[in-house]
Amino acid sequence: MAKQTRASHPIYSLLPIEIEGFDSLVELALDMRSSWNHATDEIWRQLNSELWNLTHNPWVVLQTVSRDQLERVLTDHEFRKNIDDLLLGKHQAEKAQAWFQQYHPQAPLTCAAYFSMEFMLSEALPIYSGGLGNVAGDQLKAADDLGVPVVGLCLLYQQGYFRQMIDKNGNQQALFPYNDPGQLPITPLRQENGDWLRLEISLPGYSVWLRAWQVQVGRVKLYLLDSNDAANFPVHRGITSELYGSGPELRLKQELLLGIGGWRLLEALGIHPEVCHLNEGHAAFAVLERARSFMQETGQPFEVALAATRAGNLFTTHTAVTAGFDRFAPSLIDQYLGGYAKQRLNITLHDLLALGRQNPNDSSESFNMAYLAIRGSGAVNGVSRLHGKVSRHLFELLFPHWPLDEVPVGHVTNGVHMPSWDSVAADELWTNVCSKDRWLGTTETLEQDIRSISDSKLWQFRIDAGKSLVEYARERFSRQLDASGAPVDAVEGAKYLFDPNALTLGFARRFTTYKRPNLLLHDPDRLLRLLSNPKRPVQLVIAGKAHPEDLAGQALIHEWINFIRQPEAWPHIVFLSDYDMLLTEHLVQGVDVWINTPRRPWEACGTSGMKVLVNGGINLSELDGWWAEAYTPEVGWALGDGLEHGDDPAWDAAEADALYDLLEQEVIPEFYTRDKNGIPGAWVARMRESMAQLTPRFSANRTVREYTEQHYLPAALAYMKRAANKGAVAVQIVNWRKEMEKLWPTLRFGEMKVQTEDKQHVYEVQVYLNDINQDAVRVELYADGINGDAPVRQEMKPLRQLAGSLGGHIYGAVVSDDRPATDYTARLIPYYEGVEVPLEAAKILWQR
Ligand SMILES: *Cc1c(COP(=O)(O)O)cnc(C)c1O
Repeated sequence: MAKQTRASHPIYSLLPIEIEGFDSLVELALDMRSSWNHATDEIWRQLNSELWNLTHNPWVVLQTVSRDQLERVLTDHEFRKNIDDLLLGKHQAEKAQAWFQQYHPQAPLTCAAYFSMEFMLSEALPIYSGGLGNVAGDQLKAADDLGVPVVGLCLLYQQGYFRQMIDKNGNQQALFPYNDPGQLPITPLRQENGDWLRLEISLPGYSVWLRAWQVQVGRVKLYLLDSNDAANFPVHRGITSELYGSGPELRLKQELLLGIGGWRLLEALGIHPEVCHLNEGHAAFAVLERARSFMQETGQPFEVALAATRAGNLFTTHTAVTAGFDRFAPSLIDQYLGGYAKQRLNITLHDLLALGRQNPNDSSESFNMAYLAIRGSGAVNGVSRLHGKVSRHLFELLFPHWPLDEVPVGHVTNGVHMPSWDSVAADELWTNVCSKDRWLGTTETLEQDIRSISDSKLWQFRIDAGKSLVEYARERFSRQLDASGAPVDAVEGAKYLFDPNALTLGFARRFTTYKRPNLLLHDPDRLLRLLSNPKRPVQLVIAGKAHPEDLAGQALIHEWINFIRQPEAWPHIVFLSDYDMLLTEHLVQGVDVWINTPRRPWEACGTSGMKVLVNGGINLSELDGWWAEAYTPEVGWALGDGLEHGDDPAWDAAEADALYDLLEQEVIPEFYTRDKNGIPGAWVARMRESMAQLTPRFSANRTVREYTEQHYLPAALAYMKRAANKGAVAVQIVNWRKEMEKLWPTLRFGEMKVQTEDKQHVYEVQVYLNDINQDAVRVELYADGINGDAPVRQEMKPLRQLAGSLGGHIYGAVVSDDRPATDYTARLIPYYEGVEVPLEAAKILWQR
């Protein structure tokens, strides 16, 4: 492994590779596992503590440290032994039988390819902006922990997402540092003969050459593509210049590179995933390239290839509003994909556009990436229970006449990678009661284990955590002031920010209107009174960026800064600039309460609140996203009535008042009601329940196990079945679907009869199937669900031919008479074994 690294890194030859032991340091530095397994931190600190603290990038430390220092530490016996032990541990972990190998030894899954526009793995690799990258990064890490065979695909951006500075006037300044590949913990991908792996993608006029990179995440690999190759046409060279570059054309090209380039890279590496997981619609072009590759392999036409491969594709949607979907003008699709459709897929532009349209024949309709992802997948999911429901609304137009409940979008609730977000102290606390391996397998016992921790221990743990955060905030705030040109006494004064014994509230997230980051500012005087009560002081840490083009979001930041800068607010509140992973870590490890105030139902899931769970922080949040399914009174506090109110200002005002009331009447008194040992019993009880019940449930460990068992494994099987014998099953499915298309309009119901006897309704219905085979459809008795229950769907069985008809049949079913007979109706839907209806065939005929 070390040898390969040495040969493959371009600047490696400039490093002191002849120093004995240096290899081992390289191997550790280039494994992202170091970013959460803090065992290696001490090594980098010993090499150069200042640089380590500033960057948290071992690879930069290693390149920068002087030869003298390297030689000195590497001849130190203890240092060497530590490195050898860490390396041994790493190699053992890579070979260990993990959860996947133990629980699914015969699994048909050899690889799931996870496509995402961003991955948030470490601040040392800034290819993320926020929530979406967090989900992708945390799941990749959990896949490594669990031994699930996943590879990630993403782009390498020459600039990461912007960095934030707050200037003298309290305005956000956006900065775009350059991502120097040589300083990132990545290695170039080379072919076996040592040549750079270069991929060619044709775009109008010129080919784009893509360079490929590898990121090691324990035993999992993440591959990155970038277009910054000297041979490229200048416009193409800039395709990967920045994450979410502005303008639809650049966005389209980035998505082409990710989807088509990503799949092609896997092929070039000889990787043949059974499963392709699309993290958001950005990656949906992978569906096309996967089908194209299948066409080439088997000689089948596109529709067969798509029918075969889609069974192995999974689409996860993260958006709660239609405006959140990427859409492209048909002319843009024509420009960039018209030739690809005709020459590579052998389909017309119209057919291609149809995949991204609700109405294929509406030539003005734009091309929706989420629709392409749905048409190209075997399953679709939202990222929380509520978001599943919201998504069924968003996509119901694609499934006309189907009940909303049956729109084929399920949910897998996100979780966070606990080992990445727990503090060193939290890690120790959990290790003591639950063992070191607690996130490597199933987690059923954790809940009971955590309950065994005493009140005094838990409380001491919280006090220490709060103190660390106060120290960190003081230090960071003082530098922030200094850098923005504040007077010396203000910079000095930052040392007196906060009170280590006060209740600390945290609020950090993207500043955008739907998150309502200024809800707490609704009544500034009331907030001020609440913070500065000398008997029960409260302090508030705020952080968050507003997109450089989101002026409303930036105004919200400005509003906070103005509030904070009034003398009465000192020292109870601070805005820490440049919200990123490192800041998140400190916040989620140290706050007592994490506040979240989105407008329901626009927070698809939200993950930041999950990061406080393992650290003993408690959530106070709107009943939206994950909190809508996590909240019970014993684990935290809830805002809102569990209903949607749009952006009604009166409702916002009412919720703001409710938030103050909750803080004043429940949160603050509970924190300050102490027993004779100084322990707030009720608080600690709530903290314990939150830790015990919610940490395992909202861990990426649970999420990845759920994806694996509910999606990856069945998808792998389904794909293999359809793909076998050059797609024989897929051919039959396509034929079946064509027959449905042609003959469906000829189907009709005749009379339906019901008799009620012995507490049962006995139904018989006449069905004219005409030329359609009985096996190709299913007749069902249906009733809407009541009181939130699932609808009743019962198969009706063929009883006999309908006398005197051609292709007429009588179908029957019996149900209990609990509900009135008129609640039920009959319906006819397509049926083919293994085919997802209505996802893959959305016809439906109702008897009434
Ligand atoms: C966790 C995290 C997010 C996602 O948080 P939300 O709950 O979706 O607001 C965004 N940015 C950073 C830096 C994070 O650490």
